[in-house]
Amino acid sequence: MKCSYCKEPLVRTLSLAEILGLVSIPLFELCSHCTQLFHQIDPTTACPGCGRDTSMKEEPGLCADCLYWQKRYPTYSFKNRALFRYDYSFKEWISSYKFSGDYQLRGTFSERLKRTLSQRTYKNTLICPLPLSIERQKQRGFNQVEGVLLAASIPFVPLLKRLELAPQSGKTRQERLLMPQPYVLAVEKAQIKHQSILLIDDVYTTGRTLFHAAECLRLANPAKVESLTFAR
Ligand SMILES: [Zn+2]
Ligand SMILES: [Zn+2]
Repeated sequence: MKCSYCKEPLVRTLSLAEILGLVSIPLFELCSHCTQLFHQIDPTTACPGCGRDTSMKEEPGLCADCLYWQKRYPTYSFKNRALFRYDYSFKEWISSYKFSGDYQLRGTFSERLKRTLSQRTYKNTLICPLPLSIERQKQRGFNQVEGVLLAASIPFVPLLKRLELAPQSGKTRQERLLMPQPYVLAVEKAQIKHQSILLIDDVYTTGRTLFHAAECLRLANPAKVESLTFAR
């Protein structure tokens, strides 16, 4: 067994349940060194709107970015949960996985994601990764969010399609915020009506794409739309 990030051999004691075959041994695991590279965000102290790590500052309540969105979408009760801080280590990982295309790295956060999504609050929830445009998916060869979900054996439903627009990376914050709606529904409205939906994206940057996706889904009257990102 190898660490799913640094690929060094992984040595650990199996749990009794694993030895007895009551639970399967995970396909992807992180060594203790790599586990410590990533800074996990504590959801109890994070910004309740976007999941930003607030352990560094005192003020409770929504952060400045969330107050901006609240003004734009006053009827939304949008909530994002982020697993890790978007720091140097995370940027390194996403650069190797998404931009250099090292698909083996899809399992780096499998166990962490599985643990989070097995919580009761996500029971009976439709998991929907944010789609790439057909052109972008062809270029990259894979959808980076779907890759992580597949590695974690988490079932998902593609509820949205993305139209081809100029890519976001390399754009300024202001340009990103002005981006037009890139999503359309990929399923019948009836499939979404009264459902709880959890959108999954890799990084929460400005929130623009997630709000666009939520806006698109809300046309079909879902019970709830929330999101989870690997980093914020
Ligand atoms: Zn490692
Ligand atoms: Zn916030």
